[in-house]
Amino acid sequence: MSKIVVLGAGIGGHVAAAHLRRKLPKDHEVLVVSPNRNYQWVPSNIWVGIGRMKPKDVFFPLEPVYRKKGIGYKQAKAVSFHPEGDASQNKPYVLVEYVFGEKAGIQEKVTYDFLINATGPKLAFELTEGLKPGTNKAFSVCTYDHAEQASTGLNALVERIKKSNSRAKILIGTGHAKATCQGAAFEYILNVERELVRLGVRDKVEITWISNEYTLGDFGMDGMLLTYGNSTLKSSDMVEMIFRDRGIKWILGAGVFKMEDGKAHYENLEGEYKTEEFDFAMLIPAFSGHGFKAFDKDNKDITEKLFKGFMIVDADYTAKPYEEWTVQDWPETYQNPSYPNIFAPGIAFAPPHAISKPRKSKNGTDIFPSPPRTGMPSGITAKLVADNIIDAIKQGNMTLNHKGSLGNMGAACIASAGYGTTSGSGISMTTYPIVPNYNKYKNTGGRDLKKTFGDIGLAGHWLKLTLHYAFLYKAKMKPFWWLIPE
Ligand SMILES: Cc1cc2nc3c(=O)[nH]c(=O)nc-3n(C[C@H](O)[C@H](O)[C@H](O)COP(=O)(O)OP(=O)(O)OC[C@H]3O[C@@H](n4cnc5c(N)ncnc54)[C@H](O)[C@@H]3O)c2cc1C
Repeated sequence: MSKIVVLGAGIGGHVAAAHLRRKLPKDHEVLVVSPNRNYQWVPSNIWVGIGRMKPKDVFFPLEPVYRKKGIGYKQAKAVSFHPEGDASQNKPYVLVEYVFGEKAGIQEKVTYDFLINATGPKLAFELTEGLKPGTNKAFSVCTYDHAEQASTGLNALVERIKKSNSRAKILIGTGHAKATCQGAAFEYILNVERELVRLGVRDKVEITWISNEYTLGDFGMDGMLLTYGNSTLKSSDMVEMIFRDRGIKWILGAGVFKMEDGKAHYENLEGEYKTEEFDFAMLIPAFSGHGFKAFDKDNKDITEKLFKGFMIVDADYTAKPYEEWTVQDWPETYQNPSYPNIFAPGIAFAPPHAISKPRKSKNGTDIFPSPPRTGMPSGITAKLVADNIIDAIKQGNMTLNHKGSLGNMGAACIASAGYGTTSGSGISMTTYPIVPNYNKYKNTGGRDLKKTFGDIGLAGHWLKLTLHYAFLYKAKMKPFWWLIPE
């Protein structure tokens, strides 16, 4: 009998736990440890942030689903990793701390045969001075409660504009020089713009995009060349076209380093220090690792064997210049090289390097996006990790037959560009591969144009809404959930 412990119940952890439970006989134990009692479909937080969905529309409690399916659950957070056990516990374990109920604050050694670290990112607001959701007129949509707060803030601004007939400024984008997840901010700015039109105040508001990207449409993926109808289009041209069409201004190459009440201070690639004023902002924070520590059986600190910010996996972490980066640097099995029974899918693994070209300001500050790892690859990598563990348990040895690198995997992304049954809009994009392969696809920006395309229109909104319901259905593990792909 084996015990598999899954840390985190986000897209990665939940997908892994669901597949493990479905495919493994019941005498093997699957246990999820996660501090948030709810599963949230993060992509729909955008709609919570404009008030068109409620938090309850995007989350559901995990415990009843896990109880029904025979998955163990502890509402706790991982504190430290002990992959060799210690003097009093000879099995590997994770030290966890309960965060709720009678046991809150109590720590426990949770032993495992296999460990999946799917703890995603830490939302590192503290890396930007004054950036804290709900303060200094700045908000976040990274979680459903942040998004609800953003919706309240946006609503208050609209009411103020209507009452006083005054003008206002909205700033949306990235809140740190090395932030990622530009796609989420892009969706939010387009949704906010559409809401202001709907509410009749669009002409009173100046909307500005602020980002650490060098060009529009970089999205932390070095931009892309897309098939668009019968022609090809650069993502930078596509985003510029959309922003111009909607009267959205932009500031690029900006590393926001400090927030004050209604003011974002940033450094640009020219090395200038500037300030942008606003009445409402939504800035994505830096994503970092959780700062976990690891110890060997003698309690010696071995954190560097497991973590490099995020968790170390089978990537090539050799430092090299951008020109020498290859898709082979990217991991395929998400297995930790020092402890083969530990895996880290989704955002929890340490990427070998960025995807976008690194750039420094004239003052030497790094200003460029960190690599995004969106929902689809998070789900796919979690499933392949689960499949490798299932094989290892059933066959008695680790074959690692299931592989998938961001350099040979595609991603589909439907960016909401406005909510509404008939007036909604979505930008549907598929990219293959996620990490550009400049050797294989020399003349098309490192991507296969047959599998990299974009489209804009109402159909995109309907597709995004369908995905919302389909993925929540799947996450609730309703009948035949596994037929819905990651
Ligand atoms: C606003 C927004 C919109 C997005 N929209 C899209 C989209 O449209 N399409 C798309 O593909 N992607 C989108 N993404 C990205 C997508 O949400 C992520 O790729 C995905 O959530 C990553 O999954 P994950 O499981 O690695 O991490 P997460 O989903 O962040 O899950 C991490 C889990 O770990 C838990 N955890 C944290 N600390 C601990 C600890 N110490 N111990 C145990 N558990 C812990 C958390 O509670 C959580 O359950 C969006 C992201 C944001 C923020």
